Amino acid sequence: MRSGLVCEDCGEYLWLAQGAVHVRWLRDREHVVREVAEHSSSGLETWMAEGLHFLDEHRGHSIAVVTER
Ligand SMILES: [Zn+2]
Repeated sequence: MRSGLVCEDCGEYLWLAQGAVHVRWLRDREHVVREVAEHSSSGLETWMAEGLHFLDEHRGHSIAVVTER
């Protein structure tokens, strides 16, 4: 099972090796994740960094969480 983010405006997908709960958390708590990134010396896990990058690229667009089984 994998989950990801889809931009409904552009039709672009970002698949992450995470469950839907984690992906949804990232989308809904984006500002918290960015705070953590700023104050963490070790940085974010790769999937979180990828997710934030995707959200940056599609700022203002409609982002949904998708799951593939
Ligand atoms: Zn987009």
